Amino acid sequence: MRYPKKLEQHADAILSSRRREAIREQEEVQNWLRTTHPAILGCQNKLSRLLARLGIAKIRRSSCDKEIEAQIDATRKELHDLMTDAQMSEDDLLPKYTCPECQDRGYIDGRPCPCRQTILNRLVYEQLCDVSPAQSCSFDNFDLHYYVDHRQDMAKTLKSCERYAKDFSKNSKNLLFYGDPGLGKTHLSLAIAGEVARSGHLVMYASAPHLMAQLEDAKFRQSEAGMEYREIIYGCDLLVIDDLGAELVTRYTQSEVYDLINTRLNIGIPTIINTNLTMNGIYKLYTNRVASRIAGTYTEVQFQGRDIRLQKRVEEMEAHEQKAQTSHIWRAATSYPCGKNPQDDGRAVM
Ligand SMILES: [Zn+2]
Repeated sequence: MRYPKKLEQHADAILSSRRREAIREQEEVQNWLRTTHPAILGCQNKLSRLLARLGIAKIRRSSCDKEIEAQIDATRKELHDLMTDAQMSEDDLLPKYTCPECQDRGYIDGRPCPCRQTILNRLVYEQLCDVSPAQSCSFDNFDLHYYVDHRQDMAKTLKSCERYAKDFSKNSKNLLFYGDPGLGKTHLSLAIAGEVARSGHLVMYASAPHLMAQLEDAKFRQSEAGMEYREIIYGCDLLVIDDLGAELVTRYTQSEVYDLINTRLNIGIPTIINTNLTMNGIYKLYTNRVASRIAGTYTEVQFQGRDIRLQKRVEEMEAHEQKAQTSHIWRAATSYPCGKNPQDDGRAVM
């Protein structure tokens, strides 16, 4: 899987810092041993010299390797006894790498270590959170109570989105989330994106206007960063295009949307499109070529109900109103005629 160059550099910087920290801590242990247990350090140095001699002897096929091996065994035992007396283990002398397999180098025999992939996956998810409210959009906080007349349908949609994220692979379907604004399309697509990113896939998310502007800029400026962005958008494991149709539709964007959708279909990597348009609306706004490619290859998922953002605003206003009324009643109940302060009369207020 190809990751953005910036993320690769960031991952390597994290690995280097881990390695430096492990070595620094080991040096601190060595300094402490030098003053408190010099015999341990002497024994450790002797063992290192013997191991180096054994290596040379083996290369030269020298006959004295058996003798060196015996000295190594004896020194190991001596070191073990010294460590036991000091209530330490031999592991205490080694650097504590976060990943012992690659010693925080990120590579084993020239091949990337799984720990590097884990770091990259975390960075991809953090990047997704930087450009979208991914962290606040989960399956758990998708609130079905707002879908008064369509609760069953939306419960089914929620379940199938959870399944989609859980079973995600490069063979997953392309999805077209459509419906009026404020019905949770962005929320559910970001919940999928977050889950898929956390499971180790490269996920990109962009609103259609931003995406088109970035791709156009990359195409015409030909900057290295722009070309890299373009390549990743075209090749990432999952792409979420939010609000298709909100961009300024021109001949350029028509052709870019077609290229993007078509390329990803040909490679066989899934895309999720959110739009306020129906399929008819897509046919009206885009060329037949774009619309029929979407109609023929995307699974349509309809979002129905009343604008949740509006419902939340009404709830907030009602709550505010109620609070204001309660406060008014309380003020009326505790006010005294002629603005007299009850304390002036020496009476206690309950
Ligand atoms: Zn590793």
